[in-house]
Amino acid sequence: MSIAGGVSYALDRAASVQSNAVQVFTKNNRQWCGPPVDAADVARWHSQRQALGIVYAASHASYLINLASPQEELWQRSLIAYQDELVRAHAYALPHVVLHPGAHTGAGDAAGIARLARALNQIHEQTPACADTVTCLEIMAGQGSVLGSTLAQLRAILEQVDDRRRVGVCLDTCHAFAAGYDLRGAAGYTRFIQEVEQWLGLETIKIWHLNDSKGTLGSHLDRHVQIGAGELGLEGFRPLINDLRWEGVAMLLETPKDATLVDDALNLAQLCALVEEPSRLPPGLRNAVAPPIGQ
Ligand SMILES: [Zn+2]
Repeated sequence: MSIAGGVSYALDRAASVQSNAVQVFTKNNRQWCGPPVDAADVARWHSQRQALGIVYAASHASYLINLASPQEELWQRSLIAYQDELVRAHAYALPHVVLHPGAHTGAGDAAGIARLARALNQIHEQTPACADTVTCLEIMAGQGSVLGSTLAQLRAILEQVDDRRRVGVCLDTCHAFAAGYDLRGAAGYTRFIQEVEQWLGLETIKIWHLNDSKGTLGSHLDRHVQIGAGELGLEGFRPLINDLRWEGVAMLLETPKDATLVDDALNLAQLCALVEEPSRLPPGLRNAVAPPIGQ
């Protein structure tokens, strides 16, 4: 959600589409480090969260960060930038920061994974006060030398992190599908979750990103599209959204939209219409279980 006007204004935008969860950048996502945290905005954040009933909020780290980079300068810069992300998220009392594992840019998977884990271990050592803000490594579509497109690789990363309590995983439906995991239909979904259980354990999954995929299965294309308008299709989300094992695990949209947020409202309505038990929906969306509006 946009943070125009201040990070706290994302809460108002989320509430305007009846969402009770939100994901934000805690600063301009095209800059390495932001200005000092705005205490007034943090105060507004806490009061608005309460007032608007936003039960879950997380941040997404800047796309510039590459903690797997073999280039010393970029790696050091990424280290400082990610530390800044953690401090910011902690200031807003966010439980999770979503982080792309990064790209090895030619150094090889093993080298990239070792580099990333070393970075996280150093950052954890430097930020003991932020221990309650957990880094969630996101599954990736696997474009180029990007790490984290298999569950096995995500596990390999986690295994090299010294303080496991400070890391988790974010599963993005578009990325997983483009990476080659077919989670469509009951059988496909069951198979995928069995693999998640086997490689990571369900408790490691802290966040779901619900995005439809422009790219076909295994295409490695990271292009999010509106729910129901992509290769996953509306039905592709049904087993996931009705799986009670994810109760309490945040599900967030990262679908294309403009300032009107019309698309957010539409995508939420589509997904909510799939939910079999309306009491599981955010209060403002319980009556949205009407036939979804056409795409
Ligand atoms: Zn995502």
